[in-house]
Amino acid sequence: MWVTAYMRHLFWVGMKTTQRSESIHSFFDNYVNKTTQRSICKLLEYTRTLLTAFPFEAQFRDVYTDPKFKEVQLQCSRVLYVTPLEKRVVCDNVVEHLLEDIRRTYCVWFDTVSHDSGCDFKHFECYGIMCHHLIKVYYMYKVEHVPSKFILQRWRKDIQRKHIVVKVAYHDLSKTARLSLNAFA
Ligand SMILES: [Zn+2]
Repeated sequence: MWVTAYMRHLFWVGMKTTQRSESIHSFFDNYVNKTTQRSICKLLEYTRTLLTAFPFEAQFRDVYTDPKFKEVQLQCSRVLYVTPLEKRVVCDNVVEHLLEDIRRTYCVWFDTVSHDSGCDFKHFECYGIMCHHLIKVYYMYKVEHVPSKFILQRWRKDIQRKHIVVKVAYHDLSKTARLSLNAFA
């Protein structure tokens, strides 16, 4: 049943639905064992499911690689432990929020017009992933899309990555060459 569902979009020349279904199942019964079928099911089920109702979680899902999207999701899940304590108006558009989580208090500034922000925890500056304090503040202000500065080029899944190839000369190490190749060029 599951096989048919996932292969429905493929082109099956002149075959009736029942024939098609039988052919697919016959192929999988013959060539794919039960363990492999379970693994494929698991793989297909992981379709980057959203964990939260934060609109910007989808923003990251659409552009980030799997490992980096998972890091964003981890921060999203930690928002649960963040409690807002105080709010201070710094100037016309900028406010500061004092937040508490299970470790200590943190200060997040937020520009209500440009939606720019920063956290004194400096998680984004160190790891390139928004911290749960920033996420909490964006959620409090019902911001749907975080500023582009938080979407780093290096974590995007659609960029061309350069790969380094080291050609080692076993008999004369001085001839070892370092080549930079672009695998997608
Ligand atoms: Zn923070």
